[in-house]
Amino acid sequence: MTSFRLRNLATIACAGAAAVAWAAPALAQGEVNVYSAREQGLMQPIFAAFTKDTGIKVNVISATSGLEQRIKTEGANSPADILLTVDIARLEDAVRAGITQPIKSDALDKVIAPQYRDPEGHWYGLSMRARVFYVSKERVKETALTYEELADPKWKGKVCIRSGQYIYNNALFAAYIAHHGEAATETFLRGLKANLAQKPSGGDRETARDVAAGKCDIGVGNTYYWALMLNKEAERKPWAEATRVVLPTFKDGGTHVNISGAVLARYAPNKANALKLIEWLSGEHAQHMYADANYEYPLRPGIAVNPTIASYGALKADTVPLSTIATNKKKAADLVDKVGFDN
Ligand code: FE
Repeated sequence: MTSFRLRNLATIACAGAAAVAWAAPALAQGEVNVYSAREQGLMQPIFAAFTKDTGIKVNVISATSGLEQRIKTEGANSPADILLTVDIARLEDAVRAGITQPIKSDALDKVIAPQYRDPEGHWYGLSMRARVFYVSKERVKETALTYEELADPKWKGKVCIRSGQYIYNNALFAAYIAHHGEAATETFLRGLKANLAQKPSGGDRETARDVAAGKCDIGVGNTYYWALMLNKEAERKPWAEATRVVLPTFKDGGTHVNISGAVLARYAPNKANALKLIEWLSGEHAQHMYADANYEYPLRPGIAVNPTIASYGALKADTVPLSTIATNKKKAADLVDKVGFDN
């Protein structure tokens, strides 16, 4: 069972008390209730800045999973105004669960490019990340690599990656299906599995740790973890320093990217404030914070990426639509099971 915590910026209360408090109509002004699947430490400064700018208090329920289901169960009485989550598949899950309503905002449409928002407005991307390689500085000389090469026998016993079912890899493999079809993806997954130095395990940071320790030469990880380790996690800094980030591409495409984004809850009791917050998150202030505090790629044009992220090289984002990646996620999960990727 997932535990939930309600926090506004000043208080911490249990979720049960929160539900009662939110039932009071007095709270309909000046507040916005956010269900967040994002790391608390990343979002708290952004919410604090929003409150400082607008005077609107942000109440947050944080959980790593299960928030869509929770909103669905709460139904018309749900206090949720906004769901913030990572991964296109989770955003589309929320839409399919019927817990969203379309957002109508010229401000957002002006800032967020069409490929990073739902055509009907049910979700908007707010930041972006790429799934890249952490390679050994010492043992890997290549500066340009493809995802397809992960299955090349020349890397036998040299690749590390977390679970093939983790959403980040699920989306990468779903993109692979979009480029090459299911049969070729199965062959790829078998080849990649044969190249693994160890059973899929840990998270992206541990993948960097294992490359640094010489267990493998190439690890697969997201762009922001490497920057966090280098700049903000002193104990893990050596893992970044022993590795180098390569932005791989598909042979016939670009670098696989995914988004974090927001949906407006179907029964949002503070809808106007919710819209204000989502628009604010696409604004210059928040987009700089996504870039420099979270090391994500801002989606608002004209906002510079953080220098560490820029040091990876120019990102050429793959053009497979995110909605296609969401559509392929079940097929990708089935293939991962079929080849026994995690066994
Ligand atoms: Fe992450």
